[in-house]
Amino acid sequence: MVAAVHPFLPINAMKGTAMNPPTTLVMSSGGLRSLVATATVAKTAHPALLFIHDGRAGEKSYYRAFLDQADHFEIKQRIELQLPHLHAGGGGTGGEDRQIQPLAHLQMLTVAAGQAAKLGTGTLIWPVSVGEHFDTLAAVAESLVLLEHAVQLETGKSLKILTPLIELSIRQVVELGRQMQLPWQLTRTCTTAAEKPCEACAACLARAEAFAALGFDDPLIAAKV
Ligand SMILES: [Zn+2]
Repeated sequence: MVAAVHPFLPINAMKGTAMNPPTTLVMSSGGLRSLVATATVAKTAHPALLFIHDGRAGEKSYYRAFLDQADHFEIKQRIELQLPHLHAGGGGTGGEDRQIQPLAHLQMLTVAAGQAAKLGTGTLIWPVSVGEHFDTLAAVAESLVLLEHAVQLETGKSLKILTPLIELSIRQVVELGRQMQLPWQLTRTCTTAAEKPCEACAACLARAEAFAALGFDDPLIAAKV
């Protein structure tokens, strides 16, 4: 008997769905925070990773990092969704990242929450961090409560959206990852279209500052030379 293909699931989501639904869905961009979040769930029964093609500069490199992280932690269920309009307009080879659309995070979260509901997954992890920007913290928390409520109303299912890293600075994220002995070379941070880290954009500089403050070399930069 030929197995029917589910009409609504992306092809990649079909891999492994003969098993039980994933217990946790992790939104991963292939960045530092994604690596930490993925590492924390990798040992749980059955996690799945979600990559959103959001049209950012350097997206191919982020995607490669996402796959590398999934391979490293042997997470077989990988889901990809397309929201290329989120970083619309501008941007080019070597250029800074494009302008992000209004409500971009909420748009990403909504499709991620929809995917979690579709898979029958009760926990969605969003590895965002905003440090000590308390207004942002409060706004994010409120948005997540609204979205959880919307999922309940729409699907009748309960979804918990977790942001375990939200109060951390980038330095604290790196410190946490160092304690976990994570392979930083499998991450992407640069916001330019350059294939390798440009070491000049704001994101590259913040990353370099975090590693320098903690007194150890960034394996991603070391791997570059
Ligand atoms: Zn850069």
